[in-house]
Amino acid sequence: MDTATAGLALKPKDYKSDIKPVWCPGCGDFAVLNAITKALAFKELPREEVAMITGIGCSSRIAAYTSVYGFHGVHGRALAVAAGLKAARPELTVLVAGGDGDGLSIGGNHFIHACRRNMDLTYVIMDNEVYGMTKGQASPTTAADWTRSKLTPHGTGIRPFQPAAMALTAGASFVARGFSGDPNGLAKILVEAIEHPGFSFVQVLSPCLTFRPEQKEWKGAVQPFAGEATDDPVVAAARLQADGPMATGILYRNPGYPAYRPVSEVSARVEDYEEEFAL
Ligand code: SF4
Ligand code: MG
Repeated sequence: MDTATAGLALKPKDYKSDIKPVWCPGCGDFAVLNAITKALAFKELPREEVAMITGIGCSSRIAAYTSVYGFHGVHGRALAVAAGLKAARPELTVLVAGGDGDGLSIGGNHFIHACRRNMDLTYVIMDNEVYGMTKGQASPTTAADWTRSKLTPHGTGIRPFQPAAMALTAGASFVARGFSGDPNGLAKILVEAIEHPGFSFVQVLSPCLTFRPEQKEWKGAVQPFAGEATDDPVVAAARLQADGPMATGILYRNPGYPAYRPVSEVSARVEDYEEEFAL
């Protein structure tokens, strides 16, 4: 699939707002914003039919930097808001975005159950293995022996989460990993994630050069997954372990997995519930 956007009515820049990002120079999140707007332009989605729901943190500012409807919400609760929106307005394309701390610590429980519910949402975690906005504390994806934070001068000693493995185990029907240093490759992944009829999880390796300057080395460390996307979760789990945490691409895609059916598609109508609870 090509994500060339020349000749389209709306260009990627049309999906950006006039607000200038306050991210640090070199932050990977700039490229993620570019990839998201490129994917939206490729899909030719009207801006009023797209919503970007985010949590709290550096990457969660992304809602304000787009020109689609946005909600810059409460820490770790972006998926809850997005699920409510999608249930009420199933025709919208709902993107959810945030960081590793927001989505896997404060919002960890919502993440697991959003995967399990398999609503038609696209969730992007910009993973830099650190809390950037609060100035560099260990997050759930930080390696156990990272010692640069004054809060954990001897490292956390705790095994980091594996977000893609968690998504797969919890029931997400589309699991991918991208890299901000490859925005075109990431845009292609996002197009497929948006098209997938179910919960799409995209972990994006997005360096925080301010608090994790060593992540500059990620450019030389990423490599594609050894095989094409599979619909077999056992194969996907094995590939995740074999290819390691720097492998990128679409890992798992299973459109046959039953997606959550919105209220408008089941027999009970919202009006029925309202009538039942009327005082
Ligand atoms: Fe990006 Fe890190 Fe700066 Fe936050 S602190 S804007 S994550 S580089
Ligand atoms: Mg982070």
